Amino acid sequence: MSSPKIGIYPGTFDPITNGHTDIIGRAARLLDKLVVGVAVNPGKGPIFTIDERVEIVREEMNHLGNGLSDRIEVTQFSGLLIDFAHQENATVIIRGLRAVSDFDYEFQMSSMNAKMAPDVETVCLMASDKYQFIASSLVKEIAKLGGDVSQFVSSRVASQLGERLKG
Ligand code: ADP
Repeated sequence: MSSPKIGIYPGTFDPITNGHTDIIGRAARLLDKLVVGVAVNPGKGPIFTIDERVEIVREEMNHLGNGLSDRIEVTQFSGLLIDFAHQENATVIIRGLRAVSDFDYEFQMSSMNAKMAPDVETVCLMASDKYQFIASSLVKEIAKLGGDVSQFVSSRVASQLGERLKG
């Protein structure tokens, strides 16, 4: 029997958007197991703590449907992505590509990771047209200015954002 195909989907998820959730659902269908890796990433100055982001992503996964959540795990990580991949026995790194602007960075990162860990393949999924303009950073900006973000994130995430940014 061949070994199960395990992938990791790393990101900051500050907060998780409908675009992320779409990628997670599509990637989970291609794999036996998908580990969503929430990067500690203090350098990005996240508005939610690492524990909060993990909790919020887990809650979103409970609402995925189609039995997909059984195949998904959510965990935090820090350090090198390839070390996290090896730790999870993953042979695939999933990334989402929105526009041309994502390409340079993703291409460079996947090339460097491939040099360091040739056993791990980066697979980029194209953002769905409905979600390709959504970015966590813009969602935060809109929420900070009092705008309605309910088209971009789930109602649960929208209310968590509202709570965090109150006052
Ligand atoms: P990072 O700090 O690693 O960029 P993000 O949480 O911003 O973390 O994004 C994680 C991954 O999800 C990245 O590959 C990013 O390109 C992808 N992504 C972000 N938003 C979307 C979206 N709306 N549609 C598809 N992929 C997305």
